[in-house]
Amino acid sequence: MFEPVIGIEVHVQLKTESKLFCPCSTRFDAPPNSNTCPVCLGLPGALPVLNKKAIEYGIKTSLALNCRVTESSRFDRKNYFYPDLSKNYQITQNAFPIGADGYIDVVVDGTERRVRIKRVHLEEDAGKSVHEGGTITGAAYSLEDYNRAGVPLLEIVSEPDIRSPKEAYEYLLMLRRILLYLGVSDCKMEEGSLRCDVNISIRPKGSDKFGTQVELKNLNSFRAVERSLEYEVRRQSDVVANGGEVVRETRHWDEASQVTVSMRLKERAEDYRYFPEPDLPKLKIEKAWVEEVKTTLPELPGARRMRFISDYELPQYDAALLTDTRELADYFEAAVREYDGSAKTVSNWIMGELLRLMNATGTEIGEVKVSPGDLADMLKMIDKGTISGKIAKTVFEEMFAEGKSPEVIVKEKGLVQIADEDELLRIVDQVIGENQEVADEIKAGKDKAIGFLVGQVMKLTRGRANPKMVNELLRQRLSQ
Ligand SMILES: [Zn+2]
Repeated sequence: MFEPVIGIEVHVQLKTESKLFCPCSTRFDAPPNSNTCPVCLGLPGALPVLNKKAIEYGIKTSLALNCRVTESSRFDRKNYFYPDLSKNYQITQNAFPIGADGYIDVVVDGTERRVRIKRVHLEEDAGKSVHEGGTITGAAYSLEDYNRAGVPLLEIVSEPDIRSPKEAYEYLLMLRRILLYLGVSDCKMEEGSLRCDVNISIRPKGSDKFGTQVELKNLNSFRAVERSLEYEVRRQSDVVANGGEVVRETRHWDEASQVTVSMRLKERAEDYRYFPEPDLPKLKIEKAWVEEVKTTLPELPGARRMRFISDYELPQYDAALLTDTRELADYFEAAVREYDGSAKTVSNWIMGELLRLMNATGTEIGEVKVSPGDLADMLKMIDKGTISGKIAKTVFEEMFAEGKSPEVIVKEKGLVQIADEDELLRIVDQVIGENQEVADEIKAGKDKAIGFLVGQVMKLTRGRANPKMVNELLRQRLSQ
């Protein structure tokens, strides 16, 4: 049996207003080459000036990933030639990353696993090649858009601690969740603000040696990461089981055919001739600044999940789902504060009706028209018996669609629960009269059939009858 050894490199664009070394805007959808200047184009004589916000985000992320923040760092030049890099070098942090030796805890199938973070470093993004007419090999010509050149990136490198494709998937979800909680990046894979490269080798289970690494590229979703790794585990295991050897190479994930395809062999490490960036001074990060940034850290998803379990006595599943985003967790806590009933009731409504309607309509939590207070008010109306739990679902759908308060909807649509005994008795008698056979069966001892009569009353009242009272009144009448 083989086990996979997986490491992941994630690049995230930082949500700063301007680029890492110049005042150009970082806007994603600007016309090609409109957000450029001599600095990010690398024209002779142009000098970089460091963006303080990007460093702050680097510190913040390092702290959230439990990394040690370096006190003295510097930038290095990574030299290579490629059309999307008009300077012919990238400014990055090679020898002194801003953060190192951290970890994040990931829950995989109910078990917590720790994945160590090797390093977190800042660098500038490259431009973007646009291949006219399709792929890089099939295009008639290519164009360069340097709007992206110089946008600040954080590279987050894991240790090879990941042991299954599922774990890789959960690691990426947790990392993205943390970054979104921090608000340092919007993490949109489809816009390229989060990109990942994965390396994988296999080894006999129990071995502490590393096998030959294969790098995977073109991973456009976290699911693609998981599936490409599943494919690679099978492929590499077959190669070794058949007496072959895994080759060190870069492979491309082909989404359409769900296979990896060899792109290029990697016979030796590339030589980037790194040297300290001479146009930037050394970077000193004062301890006081790090402490100050620490005070701005929000409660992170892992800690919040644990607190939801202990403070609100929620099951693991609820706590994980509700803390998936900061906004959803805030929504839940606000609703709980407004409602005096159980937190689990609030959780059930959010996980059930609210998320169902959000998914069905493609609505984000930030756009939801039902305020946490309105949800709490509706739950109070159920508790008071003003509306039934069943009617509440109709009311909630209306609240979700129209943004009106539950009181207004219940009034407008006449949805107040019928709890008037005389009125209910009238309907109960009518139902018994129309279903004499069933009534006789119940009188003869077939108790279960009472559910049918309750159903008939609910139908006649369009769900507005108080079911508990209907049940009691029916029993009363049928025992006479
Ligand atoms: Zn610029």
